[in-house]
Amino acid sequence: MSSSSRDASSTLRRRRAISQYTGTLIEKIRETWDTHTLHFKLDGPFDFKPGQFVMVKPTINGRTINRAYSISSPPTIKDYIALTVRLGGTYTVSKYLNEVIQVGDQLPIRGPYGKFYWEEGMSDTIFMIAAGSGITPFRSMVQYVLHKNIDVQMKVMYTCRYVKEIICRKMWKGYNKKYPNLDVILTVTREKPENWEGHLGRIDHNLLQKEVKGFEDGLFYICGAPPFVESMITLLKEVGIAEDRIKHEDW
Ligand SMILES: Cc1cc2nc3c(=O)[nH]c(=O)nc-3n(C[C@H](O)[C@H](O)[C@H](O)COP(=O)(O)OP(=O)(O)OC[C@H]3O[C@@H](n4cnc5c(N)ncnc54)[C@H](O)[C@@H]3O)c2cc1C
Repeated sequence: MSSSSRDASSTLRRRRAISQYTGTLIEKIRETWDTHTLHFKLDGPFDFKPGQFVMVKPTINGRTINRAYSISSPPTIKDYIALTVRLGGTYTVSKYLNEVIQVGDQLPIRGPYGKFYWEEGMSDTIFMIAAGSGITPFRSMVQYVLHKNIDVQMKVMYTCRYVKEIICRKMWKGYNKKYPNLDVILTVTREKPENWEGHLGRIDHNLLQKEVKGFEDGLFYICGAPPFVESMITLLKEVGIAEDRIKHEDW
């Protein structure tokens, strides 16, 4: 087969893998004051890689709107996919998913999409940097590695403005204690809470220089708002990480 027909057939395979589903909301969990995790049961088999996203298509006030959401559950969970949605933008679909949709309601969901993923064999270490709702694809990646007991070293650096904004704080704390191959560093930038177990202040050159030790040859993932992602790419390059080791997604 010529390389162009090989390319065409692999594009076709990729296209075929993206399908349209009806998702039924089976559980809605409040994570923080402005964020919920929603479990959708899909009406067919769905395969994805940890880190990928889906498009949801609710009809709100008679208008059908498309929005992207990363899958926050791992592919090892087959019964449902989780989306973790924070109120944002001008509160259109994010408000609908946080405040309007109820258990039993149905939504068109299409996917999976995206090249921002990690799967077994890609690297021996995974260094993940998230801000705000940018933690969602990393929940999927981390749980995938833990469920499959894959022998990789992981580090998550997760920054929020306030403690109350940290998504799954208890879960991250528990994971930190339980799994020797996972190190979670939480950092808050706008307050100095008492008895705080994490870091204070923004992720800067000095902190990264210290934390990347031992991870230099692995893969780096960044997810958050565009200015945050840009600044983390710059800092990682400054501390010596090669550009082709850095993957990023922003919204
Ligand atoms: C790959 C990816 C993954 C994401 N994952 C998550 C996640 O896990 N959790 C999460 O909380 N958010 C996630 N988002 C952000 C999410 O898609 C929404 O932008 C966010 O929820 C706000 O949507 P909204 O409808 O409430 O706000 P809106 O302000 O109505 O819309 C937000 C954005 O959608 C675009 N938009 C608005 N209107 C239109 C239109 N008519 N046509 C096309 N585009 C339009 C604009 O870029 C706008 O900034 C992700 C985004 C991307 C791209």
